[in-house]
Amino acid sequence: MLYVDNVKFAKAKKKLAGELDLVQSTRVKELGEFTGIIKYNLDGAVDSLNRPVLILSIYGIISTLCQNCLQSMELNIDNQSRITVFFNEDQMDKAMFADIESEVEDGVLAESEFDVMQLVEDEVIMLLPYASKHDECIGLSYHDDADSPFSKLKNII
Ligand SMILES: [Zn+2]
Repeated sequence: MLYVDNVKFAKAKKKLAGELDLVQSTRVKELGEFTGIIKYNLDGAVDSLNRPVLILSIYGIISTLCQNCLQSMELNIDNQSRITVFFNEDQMDKAMFADIESEVEDGVLAESEFDVMQLVEDEVIMLLPYASKHDECIGLSYHDDADSPFSKLKNII
C-alpha cells in the first residue's frame, strides 16, 4: 500500500517511481491471465489554472494468451496520462464533461491518503484489451501438428 496526499504531492512537484507486479493484483487477475511487471512514474505538477495535476506514466510488457490461438503473446504498455485533482465532484464534473476547451483528461478528488497503486492498477486495466489477439494470428490450425498440446489432448479424449 502506498498513499500520498495528492494535492501536496502535485503542488510540491514531487516524483515517485515504482512497479506493479500484475500477479499481485487481484483486480487484474479477475480479468484474465495477465502477467508482467509494470513500471510507473508519478510526477506532481500544476496546470495553467494552478490546479494540482498528477502525471502518470506506465510502461512494461504484459504476457497473456491470444484468445484466437491460445498461444502466449505480449502486450507492450507505454502510456502517459494527466490527472487533475479537484476539491469536489461538481468542479470535477464541470471540468471533465461541460467544458470542451478544458485541458482536463481525467480527474480524481483531493485525498490526503490517495492510493497510488490503485491509480496505477486503474490505468493498466483501462489499457488491457477485452480479447487479446496476435496482430497476425495464424489461428488454431497451426496446432494440428503432432507435438502440440492440442493434438495430445485429442488423443486423451
Ligand atoms: Zn494468436
